[in-house]
Amino acid sequence: MFAIEMSGEPAVAGDRDTVGGRPVLPPDQPWPDCTCGERMVFFFQIDVPAEIPGCGGEHLSVFQCPVHNDAAFGPSRLPERYWETPVGGNTTAFWRILRHRGEDVAAPAADAFLEPRRLVLRDAGPDDEWEFRVGGEPAWAQGEESFTCACGAAMVFLVQIPENFGFPKLPGAPRQPDTFDSNAYGLFLGNMVYLLVCPDRCDTAAAWPVNQN
Ligand SMILES: [Zn+2]
Ligand SMILES: [Zn+2]
Repeated sequence: MFAIEMSGEPAVAGDRDTVGGRPVLPPDQPWPDCTCGERMVFFFQIDVPAEIPGCGGEHLSVFQCPVHNDAAFGPSRLPERYWETPVGGNTTAFWRILRHRGEDVAAPAADAFLEPRRLVLRDAGPDDEWEFRVGGEPAWAQGEESFTCACGAAMVFLVQIPENFGFPKLPGAPRQPDTFDSNAYGLFLGNMVYLLVCPDRCDTAAAWPVNQN
């Protein structure tokens, strides 16, 4: 597994491991919108290291609506098109987790909410179990949870984001609703987040954010 560290260095065009900045997406992949119509905030992206079983070599990008900040809860058997249909108690499909391989291109415009920062991946040890990281086994804050993709595949763990992890806000950007830090944006109300992904890649967006606290 690899720890994901946020550096103080600004992300620049062409960077593939970033907070904010320009998401690198397949040429036919539009920047995701929430079902409320708002263009989503681009939180972060990484190239998944080749050593990560199953997902190595993919590019991962994570988005959430600037207005809708909520926890995600859903049934263990996920319904059809769960990434673009409100699931559980949510009234909007307010997040998007995209993975792709192959040809891609940086979006022409940068995210307007977050300070673009370079992310640095390094080999992780046991001390990094509760950190922002990719690969390895999830460190569950509560009990283990498992989900089945709408396609029938058992979802697999890819990334963990610690509780109250703040992605630094651009000075001119609005304050995030229900934030834990007025200078930052957080994912899913600052819950622990375990990104599970469909091992069969039935869709670019076939991923589910397990929330615990
Ligand atoms: Zn929204
Ligand atoms: Zn699937």
